[in-house]
Amino acid sequence: RDLSAHVAYQAGRGIEEVARELGFDPDDLVKLASNENPFGPSPAAVDAIRNGAGNASSYPKASHTDLTARLAERWNVEPAQIWLANGGDGALDYLSRAMLEPGDEVLVPTPGFAYYGMSARYHHGEVSEYSLSKDDGFELTADAVLSAYDNERIVYLTSPHNPSGGMFSLDAVETIADETDERTLVVVDEAYGEYADAPSAIELLDDRDDVAVLRTFSKAFGLAGVRLGYAVVPDDWADAYARVNTPFAASELACRGGLAALTDDEHVEKSVETARWAREYIYENLDAPTWESHGNFVLAEVGNASEVTEAVQERGVILRDCTSFGLPECVRITCGTEDETKRAVRELNEVLSS
Ligand code: PMP
Repeated sequence: RDLSAHVAYQAGRGIEEVARELGFDPDDLVKLASNENPFGPSPAAVDAIRNGAGNASSYPKASHTDLTARLAERWNVEPAQIWLANGGDGALDYLSRAMLEPGDEVLVPTPGFAYYGMSARYHHGEVSEYSLSKDDGFELTADAVLSAYDNERIVYLTSPHNPSGGMFSLDAVETIADETDERTLVVVDEAYGEYADAPSAIELLDDRDDVAVLRTFSKAFGLAGVRLGYAVVPDDWADAYARVNTPFAASELACRGGLAALTDDEHVEKSVETARWAREYIYENLDAPTWESHGNFVLAEVGNASEVTEAVQERGVILRDCTSFGLPECVRITCGTEDETKRAVRELNEVLSS
């Protein structure tokens, strides 16, 4: 297969790697580049994963029934509507597999999350884009999507949007689903949904069969390393999962961790409250324009993002240079703990004023 049109996913570098390169003690570095949870996983999830480790020689239980049942109850859908996967990324692959014939197109936001297009291409699909304009504050409207729509099979809406932090209203999601062809699936990516103060698009599935929603344990649940996410799909899609999923789609340890994390509301609340505090702190104290965010990150306009990111990194703070999002003047700052966030803002302000 000719892979020349495919590019590698640009994952951020880990603390250890940056520490080695810059001669830092890893404990002196702050990484606010990958929208991870600064509090780590819930202790309940850590215990569950530890306690399950002794069974790691056995295959996972069929269909991960405990976790799917729990998620179905949480979202008021049928268990078969929950498509568990190896991270939200894995769930995107299952949607691509289930939806796309060779040459079918998907419509993705630009700037936006790279894996939508990558997954489509891996599955012999093609990619077209709708633009979100920085000058319009990356406003997420039905118009922005529909004016670019040309009968694509999947339309991706990221809400809250990475990297701008904006959101689609549920009315806008419904308008898009109403105005697109009945064969088009509107996928609302709510990877950052817990941080927003808004209802999930999952409630639209009560009476629609053209919307699916992506959720993940990587952010507010602090389990990015175990790789656990899921799509919630329309009820008449239920049996497609068995036809497209990789056997044992999520690891047993991940599922045990996820199930335990769902019981620890306190951990999620602390994570969400701290991110909301950090967003406000960044808007108020950073000497650079920012966009209002509903996620656990804030986009800021800093001039030459790659130079600024490098200079801040030399001071021990790792941020996301948004050049790869097509925004070479912006950095994305993940909301850290109070100390981490204050340090990032202080170092960034010093670099910006030097
Ligand atoms: N969607 C968006 C918008 C994201 O930013 C991410 C994570 N970077 C994901 C989906 C996928 O996350 P994961 O595979 O860790 O669940």
